[in-house]
Amino acid sequence: MVRVLLVGGGHAMLPTIVRSAVWVRDGLASVRLFDAHPRLYYSGMVPELLGGVYQRRDVSIELDALCERAGIPFRAHAIAKVNVDEQAVVDASGASYPYDLLVLNVGGRNPALPAAATPTKPLHRLPDVNRRVRGVLHSPGDHLHLCIAGGGAAGVEIALNVSARFQAAGRHHDLSCTVVEAEDALLPGFPRGLQAHVKQRLVRRGVDVFTGVRVTTATESEVTLSDGRRLPSDGLLWATGVKGPEVLTSSDLPVDARGFVKVSRHLQVCGHPRILAAGDSALVDGDEDLGRIGVHAVKQGHDLVKNLERSIHSLHRSGAPPSPDTLRVFRPYPVAPLILSTGEPDGLWVERGIWWHGRPALRMKHWLDRRWIHAYNGAFPPRGVARVRADSALS
Ligand SMILES: Cc1cc2nc3c(=O)[nH]c(=O)nc-3n(C[C@H](O)[C@H](O)[C@H](O)COP(=O)(O)OP(=O)(O)OC[C@H]3O[C@@H](n4cnc5c(N)ncnc54)[C@H](O)[C@@H]3O)c2cc1C
Repeated sequence: MVRVLLVGGGHAMLPTIVRSAVWVRDGLASVRLFDAHPRLYYSGMVPELLGGVYQRRDVSIELDALCERAGIPFRAHAIAKVNVDEQAVVDASGASYPYDLLVLNVGGRNPALPAAATPTKPLHRLPDVNRRVRGVLHSPGDHLHLCIAGGGAAGVEIALNVSARFQAAGRHHDLSCTVVEAEDALLPGFPRGLQAHVKQRLVRRGVDVFTGVRVTTATESEVTLSDGRRLPSDGLLWATGVKGPEVLTSSDLPVDARGFVKVSRHLQVCGHPRILAAGDSALVDGDEDLGRIGVHAVKQGHDLVKNLERSIHSLHRSGAPPSPDTLRVFRPYPVAPLILSTGEPDGLWVERGIWWHGRPALRMKHWLDRRWIHAYNGAFPPRGVARVRADSALS
């Protein structure tokens, strides 16, 4: 029996969890999932959780329940380190778990996070922000000073949704929302027309947009910007990109300067064919500039499960991991459309530098998102992951 350890139940790991049912049933492998959090939040839908469109159960997948249906144990432990020489992972209490094959899908972390800030990566703390928003909306006279550091897609989508929610409740005067972006424009890297459109929309809703400055320090009641300005803030959200988590940097694994683990195009960790990795924290050889977005993580998840299955069979056959030429090669989508919700009945669609907005964009986003999450929360796919198509997953 091949011992397979899955560390991190992220977006890329879900097909593997589902497929484990078959390996366990056929007596090929014992499989265990480690994740400190029993619930995975689906990033495509979380901004609309903050916008009041969805509830928590609509946007999350219960990992423990998914594991139970797959017939594998879920362990609510964070793994602190991979002990490569001993082929074992070690949890925070020092307990060691040996593996024959290891899969890492531990996601990213926001870099340079002040103690007073709430991270957007991982996503687990965002429901706390939703509770705070709801609390203010249910308390007449209460006011929220929300500051969002980072005006990329995540920060902007959250600002659009929260501001629209206050407006719809007739409470826009009770929200002071500021988006602070270090680059000269919101949505760096996106089409100029879209940048201007989004800024105009935010400003129309009373959101302050500061560009070309950074949040330098923060307390529970105030943030200070790099130009010396000080803003009242009782909720600072940190949406400034991602770096690799500590479990990768504190292990003897090949990582780059940002802490991402280096993998081949077959998603094998370089120099360690018994370890596979995928998602935001995996740096794919030849695709180092790939955006850290769920679209890629979800697509990698489908190659990951195939390559893990081939690795299990190879260990059974020859006692050794498979040669790379028998494994699937990860190829990112040449074009990955991104659909952002706005908090209003339209969505923003961006693809190959072209963008448009309208109701069909939001309808398409809702259809894709709900279909994807239902595949994991709804009926258990009877045959592996066949029903969950990567290319229709994240929008
Ligand atoms: C607000 C927001 C909105 C976004 N919207 C979109 C979108 O619309 N489209 C899109 O393509 N992308 C979007 N993204 C990006 C997307 O969230 C990420 O690309 C995606 O989550 C990456 O998934 P992953 O597979 O790397 O792992 P993740 O889904 O990040 O999960 C990692 C898992 O690993 C676990 N873990 C971490 N460390 C350990 C450890 N030491 N031991 C055990 N378990 C551990 C965590 O608890 C977590 O469950 C958004 C991001 C944000 C912040």
